[in-house]
Amino acid sequence: MVEKVVLLICDGLGDRPIDELGALTPLEAAETPCLDRLARESECGLMYPLGRGLVPGSDVAHLAILGYDPQEYYAGRGTIEAAGLGILLRPGDVALRGNFATVDGGGIVRDRRAGRIRVVEPLVKPLDGIELDGVTFMVKAGTAHRAVVVMRGEGLSASVTDADPHKAAARLGRVSPRDNTPEARRTADVLNRFIDRASAILHDHPLNIERRRDGHAEANYLLLRGAGHYREVPSFRERYGLSACCIAGGGMYKGIGRYLGMTVLEVPGATGLPDSDVPAKFRAALRSLETFDFVFVHVKATDSFGEDGDFIGKKTFIETIDRAARVFESLPANTLFVMTGDHSTPCALREHSADPVPIMLRGSGVRVDDVVAFGERACARGGLGTLSGTNVMHHVLNILGRLPLAGA
Ligand code: ZN
Repeated sequence: MVEKVVLLICDGLGDRPIDELGALTPLEAAETPCLDRLARESECGLMYPLGRGLVPGSDVAHLAILGYDPQEYYAGRGTIEAAGLGILLRPGDVALRGNFATVDGGGIVRDRRAGRIRVVEPLVKPLDGIELDGVTFMVKAGTAHRAVVVMRGEGLSASVTDADPHKAAARLGRVSPRDNTPEARRTADVLNRFIDRASAILHDHPLNIERRRDGHAEANYLLLRGAGHYREVPSFRERYGLSACCIAGGGMYKGIGRYLGMTVLEVPGATGLPDSDVPAKFRAALRSLETFDFVFVHVKATDSFGEDGDFIGKKTFIETIDRAARVFESLPANTLFVMTGDHSTPCALREHSADPVPIMLRGSGVRVDDVVAFGERACARGGLGTLSGTNVMHHVLNILGRLPLAGA
């Protein structure tokens, strides 16, 4: 009887054939004896995370794969980033994510990451708790140059534009309302005043005085984007009756877990970067099965290599995943193993694409098919056929015997 699940999502796993790899994708070209053995014992298929013809963002793709239709449950990137830093929004709150950046006296963004400043806690301190027009601003430092801003007060709306021009050497934008409601106009106005106040504080901050003196890029501006709002979301346990945990290095993926009511586990060495300790994450996943019914494990760097166009790096990192995945070959008999990606990030494009990703389900009761390798084209011949992201949990719940009877 299958009662537990390990879901491994490798970000941006899918790719396209690459000439230098003999017209294979990085996943096909990688030496993956373990993943291939797992595929041999699996039912495989191809998955369009958001359906055909849509290029998935990672946040909405994860919601879909975890069975939360983004149309219904997505409330903006800021909301998920805030959850990643441990802030769950209350009704009426608006959350934005931001970068500490370098802006010159003429209002031109010189460096969107302020010289890749590593620690921004001291800069966040004087901004956290600012009140303007009845709105309290909560500011929390993320990793490196990143931060999250949560606005709490009456009459706010997430329907506002980004203050971030999204590229360097561009002129700063102002936040504008995206609709004509008084809430959107008020939010844009208060937010612009906050940004001005913050930039005055940051300009005179001792850390920036020091950075100016030492010739480092000043972190003198907070570029905000991705406004999100509160949304009521049933937890994973409420929705499926499964206790769930999340093992991820990247803040946004922890945010997905927390947003869905999962317990977010901190694994030392899980960085969300190519240096992440993948074996430690997979071992932690195995241990977590003693406590949780559903273990969501996220690995990020496959996507980062794709965005860098580094197909050798992507292939090599997949081989690291393969070696670490040996622990999943000896999962307890009551555990279903599911592996997939949240979208393709072809190295040739250096960005997400609408190409489907391979998926495999391995465990008792699964109709094992003839697929003998875990790859894009091998899985296309699998028994699952082609599915959408929101179908994944249907298949999982079916194996677990948790789907209700339709009809009589
Ligand atoms: Zn992704």
